Amino acid sequence: MGLGHFGGGVGVTRWLAAQGATVLVTDLSPPDKLKPAIEQIRPLIDQGQVSLRLGEHNVSDFTTCDLVVANPAVPKPWDNRFLRAASAAGIPITTEIRLAVERLPNRARTIAITGSNGKSTSSAMIAHILRHAGQEVVFGGNIGGSFINDVAGSQAPIGPNTWVVLELSSFMLHWLAAEQTPARTPSAGWSPHIAVITNIAPNHLDWHGSLEHYEASKQQLVRDQRPGDIAVVHATPESGPARWTLPPGVQRIALAPDAAVSGLAIPGSHNRDNAAMAVAACVATRNVSRDVAERIVRTFKGLPHRLELIGEFRGVRFFNDSKSTTPDATLLAARAFAQDPGLRHVHLIVGGYDKGSDLAPLGRLAIDTNLAGLYAIGTTGPAIAAASNGRAIESQTLAAAMRAIASRMKPGDIVLLSPGCASWDQFENYEHRGSTFATLAQEIHG
Ligand code: ADP
Repeated sequence: MGLGHFGGGVGVTRWLAAQGATVLVTDLSPPDKLKPAIEQIRPLIDQGQVSLRLGEHNVSDFTTCDLVVANPAVPKPWDNRFLRAASAAGIPITTEIRLAVERLPNRARTIAITGSNGKSTSSAMIAHILRHAGQEVVFGGNIGGSFINDVAGSQAPIGPNTWVVLELSSFMLHWLAAEQTPARTPSAGWSPHIAVITNIAPNHLDWHGSLEHYEASKQQLVRDQRPGDIAVVHATPESGPARWTLPPGVQRIALAPDAAVSGLAIPGSHNRDNAAMAVAACVATRNVSRDVAERIVRTFKGLPHRLELIGEFRGVRFFNDSKSTTPDATLLAARAFAQDPGLRHVHLIVGGYDKGSDLAPLGRLAIDTNLAGLYAIGTTGPAIAAASNGRAIESQTLAAAMRAIASRMKPGDIVLLSPGCASWDQFENYEHRGSTFATLAQEIHG
C-alpha cells in the first residue's frame, strides 16, 4: 500500500518478490505520477509476479491477502478504511521498517535516531564517525532507499558486527509499537540498543492528529528498550525527551543544553548541536573514544545538496545547497554563515524555475545584509534582481554566475549555491543542479 518515490516501496516489493511472494502494489496516485518507481519493478510486472492497482485502492485487495505492507506515509493509519478492513479480516499489517528490524542479526549493534529536526544530519554524522573509526555500518530508514534489502536481501552487507544506524520518522515509529501488531502475529514492539532523540517540536500534526500522538509515537524509540540500553537526549527543560520515563535499567545520557562540537566543516550552530549528539551516541557504542569521534565528525561534509561542502579552492569554500527550493530555505542557509565567517564573505547564487513563491525575501538579501554578492540566475533571476533594487548581479546561467564570482572572490570567502527556487528551468532536478555546481567549481576554480 503506497509505492511512493523514496525507494522503500520499490525495495520492499522486490524483497517480497525475492521471497517468492505474489505482490499487488496499490497506490492512490495514477501511473504517470509513479513512473520512475514503476520502471524499477517493471521486470517483476512483466514476469507476472507483481501486479498493479493504481489511482485507487480496492477494499477486497486488503481483505483477501496474506499480509499488508503499508507505506509509513499513509496518514492516520488507524483511521484508514482500507487498513481497518484488513484488520477486521484478521490480515496482519506491517511496514518495510518493521520487516527489517525483525530480521536484524544483532540488536546490540543498533542505533536509531529520531527528532523533529536534525534527524538526517545527526544520523549521517553517526554513520560517518563509525565508518571512519573502522566499523562496518549499514545506514537506512527515513534517509531513503530500501533498508530491508540491506538487512535481509540476498546480497545484504550486514553481519553480527555491523552497526545499524537507523533514521526513524514518527510515522515509522508508530508502526514499531507493539499495539500495532495484529493478534495473528503477536510480537513485541521494537526499540534500538542506543536511542538518540535530537529534539521534539510540533510537526506532522496532519498525520498524527495531535501533538500528544506525535510525541507518543516518538517515544517508541525508547519504549521497548531493555536493561543495559542507552538513551541519548538533550537535557534542556523544554525538551520532552528529558522527561520521558525510561524502562528499568536503561541509561539516560543527557547532553548539557550548550553541548556543541566546534571546528566543523559545515556551518551553523544547529550542526554543532547535531555533532554533539552524534559524538555522544558513538561514544556510547564503546567502539570509539570521544577524542576520535570529535576529530572525525569535524570532517563530515554534510548531506548531499544540503549545505554540503564540496571543496576548497584557493582559500574559498564552495557549499552546495541545491536542495533549497524555497526562499525560506535559502534564508536559513545564509543565516548559517552570518556569524562565521560573516555574510560579507558570502557569494550567494539564487534563482531558478518559477513556482510562484514570493521572491522578494531573496532580493532583499542584497539590500538588508552585507553579502559579498547576490547572483540571480534562471527564470526567476530578473524578478529577484528587481526586488534587490538592482543590487543583484543578473547572471542568467550558473556558469556565468560562477565566472562572475571568480573575478570577485577573495581567500576566506564562501560561494553558496542556495537557489530558493526549483531547478526545472535549466536542470533535470536539484541533484543535477548541485552536481553541475560542483563540476563548475572544479573547472573554473580548481
Ligand atoms: P530532518 O532529517 O529531521 O528533517 P535534517 O538533518 O535533514 O533534519 O535538517 C533539515 C533542516 O533542519 C536543516 O537544514 C536545518 O535548517 C534544520 N536543523 C537541522 N538540525 C537542527 C537542530 N538540531 N535543531 C533545529 N533545527 C535543525
